[in-house]
Amino acid sequence: MKKRIVIALGGNAILTKDPSAKAQQLALRSTAKKLVPLIEQGHELIISHGNGPQVGNLLLQQSAADSKENPALPLDTCVAMTQGSIGYWLQLVLRETLKEAGINKEVITLLTQVIVSKDDPAFSHPTKPVGPFLSEEEKNRKNDQDIYIEDSGRGWRKVVPSPKPISVTEAPLIEKLVEMGAITIAAGGGGIPVVEDNGEVSGVEAVIDKDFASEKLAEQIKADLLIILTAVDHAYLDYNQPNQKQIKTISVEELKQHIDKGHFASGSMLPKVEAAIRFVEHSNRTKQAIITSLDNVANIFTTDIGTRIY
Ligand code: ADP
Ligand code: MG
Repeated sequence: MKKRIVIALGGNAILTKDPSAKAQQLALRSTAKKLVPLIEQGHELIISHGNGPQVGNLLLQQSAADSKENPALPLDTCVAMTQGSIGYWLQLVLRETLKEAGINKEVITLLTQVIVSKDDPAFSHPTKPVGPFLSEEEKNRKNDQDIYIEDSGRGWRKVVPSPKPISVTEAPLIEKLVEMGAITIAAGGGGIPVVEDNGEVSGVEAVIDKDFASEKLAEQIKADLLIILTAVDHAYLDYNQPNQKQIKTISVEELKQHIDKGHFASGSMLPKVEAAIRFVEHSNRTKQAIITSLDNVANIFTTDIGTRIY
């Protein structure tokens, strides 16, 4: 049966070692090939993706050229720019890959805004490091409102808030595109963070976690399944310990107990597990979420591979 699937692509789907545009397109080409079986099976795909290294490099470029004539652009704009560049690459290679497979389907990238609350507690506790490492001197020369933290001896780095997504602005439109049969790339980099204030919408200096944004999008467009693809085939208990253990099919209750015991690192596996739980709970437990690696995605409906949350 045809399913509507939100696929959240992890960083390893785009960037391997070489950050050149060419190498990233090559990595995405291999990613696109791995998604083709799902498209061949007739499922509707909505693809979201991370942008950490890309927006990091863009911020470096911005600050290197920063001047009166060519001022550095703010973070929300940089997120929009990476949604555009990564979406363009993926659109290009997906179309090519589909053509090779003899599948006639449109692919489109949609710039996506995500509303966050200006009262989100994250705004008083910025935690997410972004942009270049600065020396103490460079940091002190910046007499702006920004907050910097010392990052394990490597220098000072600006930190920005990571608020929770409330609503994906373009979700109704994304739904329409999907209904028209287009593979839709949306909510890249967790979406462009915007706040609403007295009916006015504006971008903010913040980063929304891409796993949470993907989950919110999946809720809003009534996806049947949320698949979070990353570098590991499963979420693990005692990850990286000699006794590490794959988590296979698991209930929300059981998974919550593992969260409480600290099995999942914050900023990497924890948001995936939390996003998966949220999706399942939002559906009143009628739907599942899967965390696995890109290599396993073709076998998702024929095996029980991956961490499956129900
Ligand atoms: P992505 O770009 O896909 O979001 P992240 O690096 O943010 O990737 O998160 C995935 C990483 O989380 C894995 O590659 C792994 O190193 C790490 N990780 C932390 N805790 C766990 C765990 N309990 N089980 C599996 N992976 C974990
Ligand atoms: Mg991540």
